[in-house]
Amino acid sequence: MKSFRKELWFNAPTRRAFINITPQIVQCLKESGIQEGFVLVNAMHITASVFINDDESGLHHDYNVWLEKLAPHEPVSFYHHNVGEDNADAHMKRQIMGREVMVAITNGKLDFGPWEQIFYGEFDGKRRKRVLVKIIGD
Ligand code: ZN
Repeated sequence: MKSFRKELWFNAPTRRAFINITPQIVQCLKESGIQEGFVLVNAMHITASVFINDDESGLHHDYNVWLEKLAPHEPVSFYHHNVGEDNADAHMKRQIMGREVMVAITNGKLDFGPWEQIFYGEFDGKRRKRVLVKIIGD
């Protein structure tokens, strides 16, 4: 069994962002040389997500509106967590959008369903943050 590990770094210029990281994961898969197995992709920060969905800008706008309704950033003082920081909403948005995804690898490719793409979801950006890519298989 082969094993491959890599950290991908991001620095979103905005507080919130959705970044399609599928090309980077495909590149990791090529570097690994693994043809059959699994890839795990997870955010290494508790105010960011990795999730799979459609690369469609209307949907991403809708996610932003929906998440802001569920866990509004303002008023910052509403949250007990916000003592000396202001990112309680980002922790909650991450909880809803998830920590990680796992994708099957078949014949050296990501075995996606229709329209599936992998995204990094940033909810407390403007700083460097990491995503872990771990691939195992043969
Ligand atoms: Zn916090």
